[in-house]
Amino acid sequence: MRLSQMLFVTLREDPADAEIPSHKLLVRAGYIHRVGSGIYAYLPLMWRVLQKVSQIVREELNATGAQECLLTQLQPSDLWKESGRWDTYTQAEGIMFALIDRQKRELGLGPTHEEVITDIARKMIRSYRQLPLNLYQIQTKFRDEIRPRFGLMRGREFIMEDAYSFDADEAGMKESYRKMHDAYHKILKRCGLAFRAVDADSGAIGGSGSQEFMVLAEAGEDEVLYTDDGKYAANVEKAVSLPPDAEASPFKKYEKRDTPGTPTIDSLCGFLKCSPTQILKNVLYQVVYDNSMTVLVLVSLRGDQEVNEVKLQNELVKLGGEYGGKAILALTVPSEEDQQRWAAKPLPLGYIAPNLEADYIQPSKNLAPKFLRLVDKTAVELKNFVTGSNEPEKHVVGANWGKEFQLPELVLDVRKAKVGDRAVHDPTQLLRSARGIEIGHIFQLGTTYSKSMGATYTNEQGEEMPLVMGCYGIGVSRLAQAAVEQSYDKDGIVFPVAIAPYQAIVVIPDINKAEQVKVAETLYADLKKAGIEILLDDRSERAGVKFKDADLVGIPYRIVTGRSLQQGKVEVVKRATHESQEIAIEEVVATLKHWIDREINGSYGS
Ligand code: ATP
Ligand code: MG
Repeated sequence: MRLSQMLFVTLREDPADAEIPSHKLLVRAGYIHRVGSGIYAYLPLMWRVLQKVSQIVREELNATGAQECLLTQLQPSDLWKESGRWDTYTQAEGIMFALIDRQKRELGLGPTHEEVITDIARKMIRSYRQLPLNLYQIQTKFRDEIRPRFGLMRGREFIMEDAYSFDADEAGMKESYRKMHDAYHKILKRCGLAFRAVDADSGAIGGSGSQEFMVLAEAGEDEVLYTDDGKYAANVEKAVSLPPDAEASPFKKYEKRDTPGTPTIDSLCGFLKCSPTQILKNVLYQVVYDNSMTVLVLVSLRGDQEVNEVKLQNELVKLGGEYGGKAILALTVPSEEDQQRWAAKPLPLGYIAPNLEADYIQPSKNLAPKFLRLVDKTAVELKNFVTGSNEPEKHVVGANWGKEFQLPELVLDVRKAKVGDRAVHDPTQLLRSARGIEIGHIFQLGTTYSKSMGATYTNEQGEEMPLVMGCYGIGVSRLAQAAVEQSYDKDGIVFPVAIAPYQAIVVIPDINKAEQVKVAETLYADLKKAGIEILLDDRSERAGVKFKDADLVGIPYRIVTGRSLQQGKVEVVKRATHESQEIAIEEVVATLKHWIDREINGSYGS
């Protein structure tokens, strides 16, 4: 392609709304154009990158035996009501765009496709002979993200590859999952990304095990905890660990003490001269279920620990049945306004004990009359602990479970693992922390959707069984930007060769010099003939501008028909290293072919 004929516009200035390097660079280099909040047009250069990523995805998924299809973006609400996710996706997590058509039918714009695929499966899969089956698509997804940002990283319209596997049993599903896990490894590797697969939370999608593929980068929105021995890595939302040992409590006798001005753990430790590990703190949450029922939750945990709200939310979803709710609309620390709505009298905030009485709750229709009490596993071991007294400015010391306080029935893991904690698999290993960009997510779904939507098959014994499912997604557009976030320098983007929009660019320093033009045109034609994806910068710009642009856009190899033509040579510059060498004109095609081949195939499979 000739630059003179392309939509090729680069900007000197960073766009005002861009916070991270990859976003700035993709806008400046003319890859993407912002149409609205979280809505981006993929310009020709970007579209080539996305096509390349998609092609790699296709090749690796086809190799596993998966089949490509294209599902619908418009999805009738009925399907989502069957799976029980309509309310969660339109209200609770609120990321589905919902609309009403002329016939007053409710529809959603697909944020994901479990419902649509399960509907197809229940109609078309009858027998074990049709299993296993894996269907995938590469398509635009719509999600009304609360905070769209960072360009393609968190868009409201973005491209995803999503796959769905169907198996006869759990073991089959695990095998499908393993194949997809391996395929995703190959895909990310071929795209030139440094990444890590980590244990992950399954979120609103349901099911059991899941892993995320994280590209490690400072700009990542996720925190990954891992050990140096390479044996453990997890999203902080899911991570488990051993907390530091609690120090022995100096308070041997139970008594109430005046502790003025000590509503926080820090202030209390300072006042009592004790360690936060000897304190039992009691955090109040308010959960609203999808049947409008509000439940007040009292979580007791060690003073040096924090609540992991993802774990807490998962536990509260499981407990929803007791309150007639299925999904959670909101889980928050109650605001002052909230408290005014339900509190019968002012709460002793900062001084709450695990036995806070139910008479703080005003009787009302959509409000559970009692606190739901939970205790984190690591707080059960506490002896002679310090905790609130339910009286402002006073705490109790030397308290014990089973004596002064009844241990809550619900003993759960709701604690946030953190950097420095000891690993469960080997306590000599300490957890370390890194930022990650989630590129892919694979789930062992099990029978969640096949049961709720009635997708069954007949097994060899003639029995009707639910299909066992897995689902798998890669954010294709997010991946393309993550590649930039991982690979750029002061001059611009350094695209991995495998997904660069073009592999090489021939630059004519001065288009008024006939010899320069002639050699460039010949090389351009020969390189194209040899199957190399090539650009020709034939614009009437200064050489310096052309070099800057080639660097900014991140084309891996630049061929310059400049001064060395006199020796029958051209200058060839590698973008990644700025390494420059002079190569005889007749050797250019073979040399480039060799380099490109080595980059694309050499790193793959190694
Ligand atoms: P996140 O936690 O980042 O919101 P998610 O858990 O909602 O992601 P999945 O539902 O598992 O994501 O979707 C599969 C993949 O789609 C993700 O791993 C990610 O690469 C991509 N993805 C999800 N949401 C977005 C978005 N808003 N913009 C771009 N890509 C996205
Ligand atoms: Mg999300």
